[in-house]
Amino acid sequence: MGGREQIYIQQAFNTNWIAPIGANVDGFEKDIMNYTGVKSATALSSGTAAIHLALIMLGVKSDDEVLCSSFTFSASANPIVYQGAVPVFVDSELDTWNMCPILLEKAIKDRISRGVKPKAIILVHIYGMPAKMDEILAISSKFEIPIIEDAAEAFGATFKGNALGTLGEIGVYSFNGNKIITTSGGGALVSNEKTYCDKALFLATQAADKAAHYQHSEIGYNYRMSNILAGIGRGQMEVLDNRIAARRANFEFYKKNLVSENIEFLQEPEGYFSNRWLTCIVTKSLNQRENIRLKLKKENIEARPLWKPMHKQPIFKDYPNFVNGISENLFEKGLCLPSGSNLTKDDLNRVVSAIKS
Ligand SMILES: *Cc1c(COP(=O)(O)O)cnc(C)c1O
Repeated sequence: MGGREQIYIQQAFNTNWIAPIGANVDGFEKDIMNYTGVKSATALSSGTAAIHLALIMLGVKSDDEVLCSSFTFSASANPIVYQGAVPVFVDSELDTWNMCPILLEKAIKDRISRGVKPKAIILVHIYGMPAKMDEILAISSKFEIPIIEDAAEAFGATFKGNALGTLGEIGVYSFNGNKIITTSGGGALVSNEKTYCDKALFLATQAADKAAHYQHSEIGYNYRMSNILAGIGRGQMEVLDNRIAARRANFEFYKKNLVSENIEFLQEPEGYFSNRWLTCIVTKSLNQRENIRLKLKKENIEARPLWKPMHKQPIFKDYPNFVNGISENLFEKGLCLPSGSNLTKDDLNRVVSAIKS
């Protein structure tokens, strides 16, 4: 925590706004807008809820198809299935590990040739690294398929100076406990089209029509963020730049001390600014990766393989996919190193020596 979170929480208690409404919710949304430059924001209970509402607002219904990055956490794809729709997974490219524009276009053409035009693209910025936005935005507008930017891991990252989450139709942030800043659990849906955020607010608060009594013309959800948790968010916004600097420093330290012909790091292409949420290494083989992981484990240092691609997950393996082997290769050889914002030089040195040994 940054230290000032409890001041905002205390304000909620002092004013008795212990509810999913209040000054902290409004203040946190303003903070998100100011930081990212996006025109509107709706604070929600999770990033998953934000993706779900984004799909609903883009009209995704039963049997519709939605393109989705395969190299991601399952929460990117689960809401597609909540809607009864079909995820179509698209593999990564090597420069950013995100959705490959060539495969994306191939997937769109293939689905259209089968008579189903995908309704949306869920584009993930994995580990905080921006996807190839120029190419992907061009494909999105050429085929008129809107983008939901899953920037759950990429809050504070930018592409050519613009905040991730603000470049597609709708953007999604997560403030879960493991993300770069946290409200314990929480998320936000953002857009430069205010109507999306207004509609998300309506849907997230049980879709109550404007009337004195309780009247409902649409199915609603209970997805709003608590005013207490938004207080944590306001405190966290004050240290976001700090956290990004700490994560980027972790990355630089590991890279300086470990980069070799056996261990590779993901570079930032020109104009891409990653928040370096997690520092990842890519080894030469599954065997080498496991040797490192198990050695770290022995030293009581937690390190996990990179995301297992969605098209390889038991629950998603039978859905259509467009793959090139890149995410499978990353899953096999990659390892996320300890990346917390509070790691000390001693901690970092301990990880580096364990890996070197
Ligand atoms: C964490 C995460 C989510 C889900 O966010 P929650 O707030 O935990 O629901 C979605 N997508 C990605 C890529 C994530 O890492």
